[in-house]
Amino acid sequence: MGSLGSSNNSSESGRADSGSRKRILIGVVAVLLVTVAGVFAIGYMRRQAEQQQQQQIQLWPSGTAQDIEDLATRENVNVLFILVDTLRADRMSAYGYERDTTPILKNLSRVGIRFDRHLAQSSWTKASMASLWTSFYPTRTGVVEYDDIVPDEAKFPAEVFAEEGYRTIGLYRNGWVAPVFGFGQGFEVYKKPIMTLASRPNQKSNPTAAHRANDEEIVKAGLEFLRVEGDAEKPWFLYLHLMDVHEYTYDEASAVFGSSYSDNYDSSILWTDTTIDIFLGNLLDWGLLRNTVVVIASDHGEAFRERGHEGHARFLYRETTETPFIMLLPFRLENGGIVVSSRSRNIDIFPTLYDMLGIAPPIELAEADGISLLPDILAAARGRTSPEAFRREGFAHLQQGWGQRKRKVERSTFSLTSGDWRYIHQQTDTKSSEELFDARSDPQELKDLSAERTEVLESMRSRGKELAEIDPIWGTPETREINELELNQLRALGYEIE
Ligand SMILES: [Zn+2]
Repeated sequence: MGSLGSSNNSSESGRADSGSRKRILIGVVAVLLVTVAGVFAIGYMRRQAEQQQQQQIQLWPSGTAQDIEDLATRENVNVLFILVDTLRADRMSAYGYERDTTPILKNLSRVGIRFDRHLAQSSWTKASMASLWTSFYPTRTGVVEYDDIVPDEAKFPAEVFAEEGYRTIGLYRNGWVAPVFGFGQGFEVYKKPIMTLASRPNQKSNPTAAHRANDEEIVKAGLEFLRVEGDAEKPWFLYLHLMDVHEYTYDEASAVFGSSYSDNYDSSILWTDTTIDIFLGNLLDWGLLRNTVVVIASDHGEAFRERGHEGHARFLYRETTETPFIMLLPFRLENGGIVVSSRSRNIDIFPTLYDMLGIAPPIELAEADGISLLPDILAAARGRTSPEAFRREGFAHLQQGWGQRKRKVERSTFSLTSGDWRYIHQQTDTKSSEELFDARSDPQELKDLSAERTEVLESMRSRGKELAEIDPIWGTPETREINELELNQLRALGYEIE
């Protein structure tokens, strides 16, 4: 009996096992079907959204190169500046990436202006943003260490726009651009929005980051301002500093590229593309895009072991300095928009906007490193590109050890792009190295030609050193000791501060 019983039991349990296996199988099939259906549904929804967007774009008035020139005489054109932190240009389908990470920006850039060879001026947020805002290279702003404050003498675009009668609003989540570091200059409202729990259930996040908020709060705060004030008499300058790409944040619908660290980065770009779509969709509905210039840019890129290391803020190779610059005008351009293939830099963004909008540039700009790219835009619109613009130099700088509180040592890493060449000087505690790449035939920066092209190396080194060793124009910046709470917030973003 015992054995029969046990046999029965075993047979029972065998049936139970088989039954539960079936149920598991049915469950797995159901989950797969739902997932497949879900992916199709998401794909379908995304195609629908794209089609809808294309239809909406058609309702936008069309414009020409002449209309771009005439913008300078138009009154009260708003400026929306969207900074997507840590966004590499070559990971965007708007820049030719094979994965469709930016379907919305791709469509929009086809009716706007896309700068094809754009460079950021550093590979970490504070140094890069200080340059972007002021149009001076990092060595000239002097803002290169973790505790440096952008001097009051710097003229921020928000100050220029405020003097022109604009409302000026800045919304950020990155502690490096906090007002204590001098980044609130000229903003009537400069705020880190209150974080809520709203979107957490669907949110995936960089497992190494402790920070659990996302850009939804920035979007909500920005839209709330525009809903109330967007159409008021005064024009506005609105700056949104988005962080979801920096933090590898995305939702289920954007998780379509795989599960590696690098795939997650792509997913967060797709998620951010949707965020931008939602934001601009509202502006379109409210009729605001007909009177707004939109700029999309980034402060630096991100490395994925191209040379054995990940992240940013340590090197200046192409993966951390080639960033996007896309402009949308208050009208759509025909024939695929304008692609500017001459070299451009983040320091050129605001001089270009002033020129385009007929705003007198601040006197400080006369000495600046950045220039207006309006002539390049108009030349590209008319099918003419000047060879000089193509050869324009680009410089980026990084103070190695900028996050070391205990032991400040001056160690300048810098890169110089000029003509067909790209020079990188890397300085660590123990050694310095230099590399030379052919920017045209070797855009990935893989074959070091420093031993073969010594005359080019020497001239690039000498020009690079000149820019790296220049004195800050406003003197050595004041510093501010950051407290433990702030330190931990910055560490939560993945920064190594010792
Ligand atoms: Zn950044």
